[in-house]
Amino acid sequence: MEMLQTPYFVIDEAVLQNYYDMLTGSLRENWNNYLVGYSFKTNSLPWLVSFVKKNGAFAEVVSEDEYLLARRLGYENREIIYNGPYKSESSFREVLLAGGYVNLDSRLEISWLTRLASEYPEQTFSVGIRANFDLEKMCPGETTMGEISGRFGFCYESGKFAEALGLIREIPNVTVAGLHLHSSSKSRSVNIFRSIARMACQIQKEFQLSLSYVDLGGGYCGGMKSRPEYPDYFPAIAEELSACFAPEQTKLIVEPGISLISKCTTFVTSVFDTRDIKGTRYVMTDGSRFNIDATMIKTSHLFHINYSGPDSNDRPLLPQQVISGFTCMECDRMFTHENSPELISGDRIVYENVGGYTMSLNPLFIQYFPAVYIRRDDKLIQVRRKWTPEDYIQGTTLI
Ligand SMILES: *Cc1c(COP(=O)(O)O)cnc(C)c1O
Repeated sequence: MEMLQTPYFVIDEAVLQNYYDMLTGSLRENWNNYLVGYSFKTNSLPWLVSFVKKNGAFAEVVSEDEYLLARRLGYENREIIYNGPYKSESSFREVLLAGGYVNLDSRLEISWLTRLASEYPEQTFSVGIRANFDLEKMCPGETTMGEISGRFGFCYESGKFAEALGLIREIPNVTVAGLHLHSSSKSRSVNIFRSIARMACQIQKEFQLSLSYVDLGGGYCGGMKSRPEYPDYFPAIAEELSACFAPEQTKLIVEPGISLISKCTTFVTSVFDTRDIKGTRYVMTDGSRFNIDATMIKTSHLFHINYSGPDSNDRPLLPQQVISGFTCMECDRMFTHENSPELISGDRIVYENVGGYTMSLNPLFIQYFPAVYIRRDDKLIQVRRKWTPEDYIQGTTLI
């Protein structure tokens, strides 16, 4: 295969398609009234965003910029699922007026809604409301925030959810059509989604909601060895939801991000130098931790090595090689490679499962964005060229 200039990301289109089909296949089988809202924040690479659109996904966005990007890439207002605490009023109005999905997150948004509804008294508006609830209590040790509360949506336990519902119900031409329950977890277990679905039922019953959709959010696993895949989640979710909902009346919305794109994405880097300092072998590569772990939370990486020559079996085994990035930050170290053949200039380290929270979180630090290729029929097609200083300068003025 051609040797392209590293570093670059590769998205394998067939693997991505396979994951998308696995998701919709499992939804169809278990709850045949569903909608996929692709989570823009996880990876908003324009090619990816248009790939999922062609497959029928709506855009799940959490800011005005993401909303405008979705519009720019061809999503209609009715194809938007608008979440999160940081919407703009003008985009909030556009989406609601067009019949898109808006999940309310705050009192401020209720005031925008009140204003909008009174300006259009002859129109009815459907909204969703995001519930903040104690998932940790249902799944001890599994949630991201643990005993500390999450900060999104209206708190069920404190009565803020009931209060918000009361306020919305007072607006004559507004109906609460949806419940949004996205919660992040460390475990991404089937049990987490079972519990979220159970909470949807509990809230529906308690407040006598007649819902046209339940939105479980994202946070699924995908492409991780010995972890759940889409077909493991939806039978359990459907079983729980069936207690209070039926597919004929209530649509199941899912907002996958990382689970869809993890497995299909790799990041290819090259060794350009090695050096020994105080007994440590440093292997300098042209990829950076900022490309694949910008939030500095990963403790291990999936990877494989493509040796530059046929001689890797003849190379000495080194007890420890510290694989490092190109930046000038000491923390830019990816992993320590143990008891392995000596790495030399030209060897390639290919990181796997790097589709989510990488390209979208990559800072413009020291080097600009790397290129992205799609693997299609064993050819690599460039869908984003490497960014240059020209891209960086755009929009600036030298006064
Ligand atoms: C982050 C997020 C998602 C996607 O989460 P993944 O872990 O990437 O699947 C979906 N919905 C909302 C509201 C989110 O904040």
